[in-house]
Amino acid sequence: MKNMQFAVLGLGRFGISLVRELSRMGLDVLGVDSDPNKVNLVKDIATYAVEADSTDEQVLKTLGIRNFDVVVVAIGENVQSNILTTILLKDMGVPMVVAKAQNNLHGRVLEKIGTDLVIYPERDMAIRVAQSLVTKSVLDHINLSSEYSIVEMITPDLFVGKTLRESNIRERHQVSIIALKRGDEIIVNPTPDQSILAKDILVVLGKIKHLDKLSDL
Ligand code: ATP
Repeated sequence: MKNMQFAVLGLGRFGISLVRELSRMGLDVLGVDSDPNKVNLVKDIATYAVEADSTDEQVLKTLGIRNFDVVVVAIGENVQSNILTTILLKDMGVPMVVAKAQNNLHGRVLEKIGTDLVIYPERDMAIRVAQSLVTKSVLDHINLSSEYSIVEMITPDLFVGKTLRESNIRERHQVSIIALKRGDEIIVNPTPDQSILAKDILVVLGKIKHLDKLSDL
């Protein structure tokens, strides 16, 4: 992971936040924007910051973009530039192309041209915020599909002091605890004898309808 090379094309709010976070994690990241003011904003954060038009194939070649492991197309409003950039990256053989979609139709186009991962940051953040407002016990969640999800939740009282076996969570609630967060420690793949403490955060995998019932306990 540490040797992986990342590039973020388009330095709007999303692109800049991504550059900042990848840099904070100690990773190499190139930030590109056609607007010099945006490039200026990341020049002290990114490993490299370049002013360029990402729809220009020659420019992408000069940047050596095909040698990057992950390239994120974070251009938003200009859907045409977003799609053109994505297709150029795919044609050049970038191993992992991630592109931000403005809406479902845009997302479908991105999928059709072979984008490895299509993201909808605004929509997904709204869903996360709504869920955390409605169910106070759920701290975070990742939707794996329309049916399955992984959630981080505060331990329901009825599990406190029990082992995973005693909680009978698989049979009774049809979900699996895949990790426990205990302060700074993360207990991954806990055994059936692992006990659950009051302050543990449970990382639970299952069907959304079963997870919803669990968070109501
Ligand atoms: P956010 O919500 O993340 O702020 P947004 O969805 O409004 O962003 P835009 O502002 O449309 O997205 O685009 C993000 C950035 O992409 C802008 O800074 C813009 O200058 C840049 N950009 C747009 N087209 C190109 C291009 N062809 N090459 C490089 N950068 C581009």
